[in-house]
Amino acid sequence: MNWEDFRKHGKELVDYIANYLMTIRTRRVFPDVKPGYMKNLLPDSAPIDGENWNDIFSDVERIIMPGITHWQSPYMHAYFPALNCPASLLGDMLANAINALGFTWASCPACTELEIIVMDWLGQMIGLPDEFLHSQSNGNGGGVIQTTASEATFVALLAARTEMIRRIKEEFDDDSLDDAYINSRLVAYCSDQAHSSVEKAGLIGLVKMHFIETDDDCSLRGDKLIDTIRHDKEDGLIPFFLCATLGTTGACAFDNLKELGPIANEENIWIHVDAAYAGTAFICPEFRTWMIGIEMTQSIAFNPSKWMMVHFDCTAMWVKNSGSLHRTFNVDPLYLKHENTGLAVDFMHWQIPLSKRFRALKLWFVIRNYGVKGLQNHVRKGVRLAMAFEELIKMDQRFEIPAKRHLGMVVFRLKGHNQLTEMLLKKLNSSGKLHCVPASLKGTYVIRFTVTSNATELSDIQRDWYLIKEMATIVLKSFAPEHTGYIGTSIRVPLGQIKKKSPAFGTSLLLSNCPRTPKIINASFMAIFDNQDMANDYVKHFKHMHDSNRNQQSGPALRRRIKGLMLTDKQHSLDSRIDLIDSIIATVDKQNINRLNMETKIKTHSVSSADSIQENQNEPDEMSKSQDELNRI
Ligand SMILES: *Cc1c(COP(=O)(O)O)cnc(C)c1O
Repeated sequence: MNWEDFRKHGKELVDYIANYLMTIRTRRVFPDVKPGYMKNLLPDSAPIDGENWNDIFSDVERIIMPGITHWQSPYMHAYFPALNCPASLLGDMLANAINALGFTWASCPACTELEIIVMDWLGQMIGLPDEFLHSQSNGNGGGVIQTTASEATFVALLAARTEMIRRIKEEFDDDSLDDAYINSRLVAYCSDQAHSSVEKAGLIGLVKMHFIETDDDCSLRGDKLIDTIRHDKEDGLIPFFLCATLGTTGACAFDNLKELGPIANEENIWIHVDAAYAGTAFICPEFRTWMIGIEMTQSIAFNPSKWMMVHFDCTAMWVKNSGSLHRTFNVDPLYLKHENTGLAVDFMHWQIPLSKRFRALKLWFVIRNYGVKGLQNHVRKGVRLAMAFEELIKMDQRFEIPAKRHLGMVVFRLKGHNQLTEMLLKKLNSSGKLHCVPASLKGTYVIRFTVTSNATELSDIQRDWYLIKEMATIVLKSFAPEHTGYIGTSIRVPLGQIKKKSPAFGTSLLLSNCPRTPKIINASFMAIFDNQDMANDYVKHFKHMHDSNRNQQSGPALRRRIKGLMLTDKQHSLDSRIDLIDSIIATVDKQNINRLNMETKIKTHSVSSADSIQENQNEPDEMSKSQDELNRI
């Protein structure tokens, strides 16, 4: 393709993108495909000869779009928003064309300088103290764009570790103390509601992480921190890092910086603030009460790539003392030295990778295009829509809101057993009409509903609510027929009855990928979809593989995995087992499968209770009948 072709196809692609985004409501928000769907649509190896653009492009609608979760759809309420907007897309188009790597000032002066200026703008926009700004901090503080909030947390943890190791050596006036020895005594903190990326940072930083219990509002409080620190110090540990969350993933709760700050400062504990989602809201002064105490922290990060419409990737991170980052990351080989070294910022010392994309460009475009006012309006509109949704739920007695709504996220559930809400969620997701993921708040299963798209209107929220309401009627009716016409406050359906109706049921699945961080959403395929048939199929095949593997004495690792799958009656995330599914598809042809099904059907009855996932009893499928009605909406 030459540049004249690019000019032509580029314009076509821009049209395609605008059409896609403007008509996105017409698409199923979650695709109707099963794991492995693409394998049969694409060849096993790359083409030897180049293909023409039209052939390539026509495969987008044929192969790619059928498997897309439409994150920009107003019906997308899962996770947190990951928005884009025209100015942002244009910014990256230009950045991609320039494709300069801004690791040092000299590698691309505009890249570094724009990032410094725009990060100062953004810092002021959310009301950060001057110490966090490049221009006001005598060169020590400032902002940097990281790839993700996870990375920002990890960077902060590493910098805090560097500082504490230095401090300990100074304190004992002993430079020969081994870093690794000190490292083994370090302990970091976060709340039991913190994002799994905090746990991950501790894991790869090889430091202990203690998860501190939150209060009834899912907020980390000072008294609990004091207790934990005291306990750890008695055990000979060295507290060095606290990741406080403003806007948790589970319920958008806020840790209490005002209380945590003085305690951490007293102990020389580095506080990093993870405000990945909620940070955007601080552009509005009325939401800054949650930031009180921010002056006592050492670093803060939020994702303009979530709510602020600067598309992924873009995490804004500020530190008070960039010296800590330098001491952590400065390797400084000679070839990277340029004549302004020491005068200009070299962002390579503020991050893990060497290279850096020109992300400041899209951020700059968006801030200028919307202005502070435009961005405030965008945030306030999202919050208003979430409030409207909350009001609708409150009017329906069958539902409850188990945690206070904050900003643009509402968590809700059906009163009664967790399983009712789980069933409701799976039915909604399987309908493809809207998409939510669950969370577990201290053992309570909730549906998280985030108001996401910048295109969302009140009518979208009303339409979503109608779907939820109708689906709830279907779910309640099918589990408790005697309760038809039910308006009461509590409904108790025995677990046994639920299991009988839907053997694959179990909230355990929610937790299966994150044993230490149960509040984190496991958005695996099986966790969020009601796909009984598929679960049955796969379990049968796994069973067969297990049996035949035993005979053929094949790999012990594979045998262990399959055995693990079979020994528990919990549901499993099939996402992490795509390779097994692939091997089933690859090795067993259809005829074979049918034969195997017959065999396993016979065997199933002699295998123990381990397999609650069996064929459905031949009950009249009341649920799918009513679901047909709903499909016509
Ligand atoms: C979304 C989120 C993260 C993870 O963000 P990434 O940029 O994907 O790493 C971390 N913490 C919180 C509180 C979040 O909401």
